[in-house]
Amino acid sequence: MAAALTPQYGGARRRLIEELQRKGIRSLTVLKAFDDVPRHEFVPTGLRHRAYEDAPLPIGYGQTISQPWVHAKYLELLDLKGTERVLEIGTGSGFQTALLTKLARHVFSIERLAPLAEQAREALRRCGIDHVIQRVGDGTLGWPEHGPYDAILVGAASPDVPQPLLDQLAAGGQLLIPVGDRDTQQLVRIRRGPEGFERTPLDAMRFVPLIGHHGFAS
Ligand code: SAM
Repeated sequence: MAAALTPQYGGARRRLIEELQRKGIRSLTVLKAFDDVPRHEFVPTGLRHRAYEDAPLPIGYGQTISQPWVHAKYLELLDLKGTERVLEIGTGSGFQTALLTKLARHVFSIERLAPLAEQAREALRRCGIDHVIQRVGDGTLGWPEHGPYDAILVGAASPDVPQPLLDQLAAGGQLLIPVGDRDTQQLVRIRRGPEGFERTPLDAMRFVPLIGHHGFAS
């Protein structure tokens, strides 16, 4: 039986979905994705009892699985229709990667730390998700071979918007990235329109740093 069907977390998962609704998430397709993906498979076994709190949790190697509300907010902003080609930078636990497979057609994901990428691959496999294309590397360079992308999501804080990610955005595509210093950032949405790139500043956020050629040095 797929781990996704493990019954004991069902109540906690429903309560998390209600909490996301109370906090303003309205998209039924996003909420359904949260119902379909077992977050407890993406957190360390010792923290499974906390998997359905609306909180970030440590996943090892100094990194975190983001707060569910943050994932929900990203996905609601993207308003995916199921046909898109999506690039995720910062696979981390793989939880958002799994949510993306419920909402878009092609999902590509890059993680800098090989052991985390491997953990995520295992968690996705346990959930029966085998069509994500993953790579270990510097996501600030994007993944030009598979682009352009209808959506690019960056799950780590960047001092600025990496130019390669703008270059790899399809016409009409959107990029979501937290921009700022190491302590506080603002989520920024960039749309590639007919007149060029439109930049919209959104909510304040707090993420681990994006480390790479077009990110922080270390
Ligand atoms: N959405 C993920 C989750 O909830 O599990 C986010 C995980 S964490 C907040 C951000 C991840 O970005 C970390 O796993 C970190 O190693 C990764 N990261 C940082 N810089 C990166 C880079 N240049 N390329 C790819 N991944 C990077």
